Amino acid sequence: TADDLWAQVDEYYTQRLLDDDETLAAALRANADAGLPPIDVTPAQGKLLHLLARSVGARRVLEVGTLGGYSTVWLARAVPADGEVVTCEVSPRHAEVARANLDGAGVGDRVRIVLGPALETLPSVEGPFDMVFVDADKASNTEYLEHAIRLARPGALVVVDNVVREGRVVDPDDPDPAVVGTRRFADALAADPRISATVVQTVGAKGYDGFVLGVVEG
Ligand code: SAM
Repeated sequence: TADDLWAQVDEYYTQRLLDDDETLAAALRANADAGLPPIDVTPAQGKLLHLLARSVGARRVLEVGTLGGYSTVWLARAVPADGEVVTCEVSPRHAEVARANLDGAGVGDRVRIVLGPALETLPSVEGPFDMVFVDADKASNTEYLEHAIRLARPGALVVVDNVVREGRVVDPDDPDPAVVGTRRFADALAADPRISATVVQTVGAKGYDGFVLGVVEG
């Protein structure tokens, strides 16, 4: 099937372009052992986030949606030792697993986990950030976009995950709150002159989805 082929191609390039990484593999094992859902970004996507953060010379990165900190490790490795990743997570259990993974990866000192519903915690987070990665409850993406723009420096990169949802984003009648939220977010993004954005549809080990990539205007 197409899904098998996407997974095979992901594997083909992951073997060639990504180093074997025992630290990241251990984090994924710890997540599984703790019963966390396997909804982290893929290794290839994690490296994409890492490379994007390096490309914008990110010193401070904001993440919304930590889970076990897999994407957070990739981002934390992209910022300098005196840089910072601030990552928002609602689940104390996820945050606890993430803390252990981040410390185990040797980047714990540059990551602050902000515990609580992001809509409640983001108002007290202080910018500026060079990059924002939004990957939490999709129904709130419009509000997260607003915070991202407020907290981002001019020229900052904003990445929003899971904006395609196997193509269901084009269905105005889909009742799934994640689809409804994504469509509301897409309209808000389109109407917002403070950010210039595009979309990258993706296939791979985790199926068919996509990212929005945007640059905050100066
Ligand atoms: N970025 C992670 C990675 O790639 O490794 C995956 C994040 S996972 C897709 C989404 C996370 O967002 C979950 O851990 C979930 O508990 C968290 N989340 C859901 N609703 C939230 C909210 N209102 N505020 C903060 N975090 C939330």
